Amino acid sequence: MPSAFPGPEHCDLCEAARLTEWFYEDDVCWIAECEICAVPMVVWRVHSTSPASDLKSYMHEKLANVVETHFTFEHFVDDNMRNIPDHYHAHARPVGGFFGHGLPRGQQ
Ligand SMILES: [Zn+2]
Ligand SMILES: [Zn+2]
Repeated sequence: MPSAFPGPEHCDLCEAARLTEWFYEDDVCWIAECEICAVPMVVWRVHSTSPASDLKSYMHEKLANVVETHFTFEHFVDDNMRNIPDHYHAHARPVGGFFGHGLPRGQQ
């Protein structure tokens, strides 16, 4: 069976493995809890680093909605891609912090 993966041989974000809770998904992106940081992370469905600016704001908006719906912390969008530099994704990190372990959850 031929591989359906586009581009890279192995990319965790393209595989979109559901290792953690998924908060949101649509045709443009999906949002799940980052395994490492324990904060919500939006992932573009395209293996590329440079979404057009309207797509970028769209994804940041969806990310903000998830934070509002599922959490109660003030966030900022961190799209410095440290671990997977070739596939666009952005974390919603708590203001003044980095990791989300033990963050208060809002009403679901
Ligand atoms: Zn990828
Ligand atoms: Zn992370």
